[in-house]
Amino acid sequence: MNDRDSYRLATRLVRAGQSRSQHKETSEALYLTSGFVYDSAEEADARFAGTAPGYLYGRYANPTVRVFEERLMALEGAGAEECLATGSGMAAVTAALLANLKAGDRVIAPRALFASCLWILDTLLPRFGVAVELVDGGDLDQWRDAAKRGVTLALIETPANPTLGAVDIKSVADIAHAAGGLVIVDNVFASPVLQKPFAHGADLVVYSATKHMDGQGRTLAGAILGAKDLIDKHIREFLRHTGPAISPFNAWLLAKSLETIELRVNQQCRNAVRIAEALAGHPRIERLLYPGRADHPDHAVHARQMSAGGTLIAFDVAGGRAGAWRFMNALQLIDISNNLGDSKSLVTHPETTTHRRLSDADRARIGITGGGVRLSVGLEDADDLIEDLLQALDA
Ligand SMILES: *Cc1c(COP(=O)(O)O)cnc(C)c1O
Repeated sequence: MNDRDSYRLATRLVRAGQSRSQHKETSEALYLTSGFVYDSAEEADARFAGTAPGYLYGRYANPTVRVFEERLMALEGAGAEECLATGSGMAAVTAALLANLKAGDRVIAPRALFASCLWILDTLLPRFGVAVELVDGGDLDQWRDAAKRGVTLALIETPANPTLGAVDIKSVADIAHAAGGLVIVDNVFASPVLQKPFAHGADLVVYSATKHMDGQGRTLAGAILGAKDLIDKHIREFLRHTGPAISPFNAWLLAKSLETIELRVNQQCRNAVRIAEALAGHPRIERLLYPGRADHPDHAVHARQMSAGGTLIAFDVAGGRAGAWRFMNALQLIDISNNLGDSKSLVTHPETTTHRRLSDADRARIGITGGGVRLSVGLEDADDLIEDLLQALDA
């Protein structure tokens, strides 16, 4: 009743998935339990056989986790027929990859990726006989050339960490599908509010719910969404038996957070637009990259795929690493952190933190410079944020 498809999104974000207990609570109930009991041995038999409905064990499913999953499906919209939550974003990425791969398979991905995703690809998968080819994500000729050697899976991240380059989801999906491959989109940076990868041909969408979904810096979580047969065929079993389950408490927090995600992300975008405007052309900023600005080199692709410019801005502070560090250390309101998507604005120096494992050549190739800074725009008043950024640039 509460998640009727005909309701509009804002309604479903507040209502979808709730099933009230016999106590008729207003808010969503928190079922903090690892197991479930049966009225009889016969009922246990029937539930395990799948002929009677009901929960079996917390590693498989939980009613509070289900509220989060159903609400996220409502947000993702068309194409998200099923959703399974995980204990972190990396658990979701790893499961989506491993559940669909075996020795001898081939993965193609851009080299500009979240650092742990890159580790899974360049270090973990090759140990199990999976070949991985990295390409420049924005160069479709490189995708086409790599696909000639075969593609089991293509993993896309767009906008990409940390320089916010675009990957054209539809074109890459066409290339991968023509070669018989599946397409997984890591949609964390855009969030499900701004970008709908299924509309552009994605087969699976993965999230770190740690970022915009929680949005208040409290918990780690992740999720995988896709067509029901695709999730049921490989991913459900993989998660059941390998065990990266989300805590019901964290799922409860996230179900409540999804009630406000549209309001939060849209306001963070409005703040980001104002900050990008205030910083572009500043004499101490050598380059500013914001997907919502016409001067972003990938603006056309971002504009096709995203409904707004997003909550992240990347820029190069004059003076290389020393200039960037001086600027970061002079900030009085904005915090230094490698996290993102929080209500608190956070600034990161990718060269020495998230991307320190890369060689100088690889960093240069994806556009990470010594002066490069990534700003995750929060929910503070934009004028306070702009004043803080300008005073730190003057330092
Ligand atoms: C944070 C992040 C992840 C990993 O998520 P965790 O919740 O930290 O495990 C994966 N991909 C992207 C793009 C991210 O930003």
